[in-house]
Amino acid sequence: MPRYEYRCRTCGDTFELSRPMAESAAPADCPAGHDDTVKLLSTVAVGGTVSAPAPQAGGGGGCCGGGCCG
Ligand SMILES: [Zn+2]
Repeated sequence: MPRYEYRCRTCGDTFELSRPMAESAAPADCPAGHDDTVKLLSTVAVGGTVSAPAPQAGGGGGCCGGGCCG
């Protein structure tokens, strides 16, 4: 069952609920009992690839790689 994150606009708390996708837009009470909540972006994993930038290898023009250090 997917998990959805909600935020309470009364107390500012955020909480997660596991509920069927069909009820993702249904009102959700915050743990403190407030009903003025908004649904945040789903935390369910989405497709796509996240590629971290490749680290710069040393010795490509830095001081110690240019011969000035030794
Ligand atoms: Zn609340």
